Amino acid sequence: MTDRYLKNNPTKNTALWLSLLVIATSLVACQNNSALGVVSNYHWNKHGLVTNNNKLNYHSRSINKITIHHTATQNKIGESDLERLRSARRYHMQDRGWGDIAYHYLIASDGTIYQGRSADFVGGSSTDYGTDNNLLIAMIGNFEVENPSYQALESLKNLVANRALHYRINPANISTHRHHASTLCPGVRLQHWFDRVGENEILHKLQEKTSLF
Ligand SMILES: [Zn+2]
Repeated sequence: MTDRYLKNNPTKNTALWLSLLVIATSLVACQNNSALGVVSNYHWNKHGLVTNNNKLNYHSRSINKITIHHTATQNKIGESDLERLRSARRYHMQDRGWGDIAYHYLIASDGTIYQGRSADFVGGSSTDYGTDNNLLIAMIGNFEVENPSYQALESLKNLVANRALHYRINPANISTHRHHASTLCPGVRLQHWFDRVGENEILHKLQEKTSLF
């Protein structure tokens, strides 16, 4: 994947990226969750099932990649994103038997970012791909049949760039679930956005944030 990435994007030079990271490193502390207005799981999940830490595993090393998903739950009129979020968590814990919701962050159609499973732990997945040391970000919706909203995409770009800076992730390691496994996730419309413009827009967002320092 790195070869393809560098071949198609000569400006995405790893050495350049690493030097930008060095510049940004000392000031990365301000790139935290609160700067993004992330809704903590404590707030949205107050009355939900208790996380089962016994079923969760710590990453073997620090996070070094980001994978984008969708929840595959279609946004319906009359049901809020928060309700969809809560039912996704119940489904993952009760039906899949996982210790917590699969994803570390989830983004609603209004652009709100919700904290999911603690980033200390490996995310959940029903397909076989490397979830260890991987930050899983899911867009709430089914993008096989609907388009991601402008606000949700803006939040996705901000969040991915923010976390990539925080964990010093090489942009070549930012991808979608479909890049790694036989799955429809994150839905053809979100995948199309990522391939057509999203990947580059995330990189620009990263450069923008880095140049602030
Ligand atoms: Zn997925």
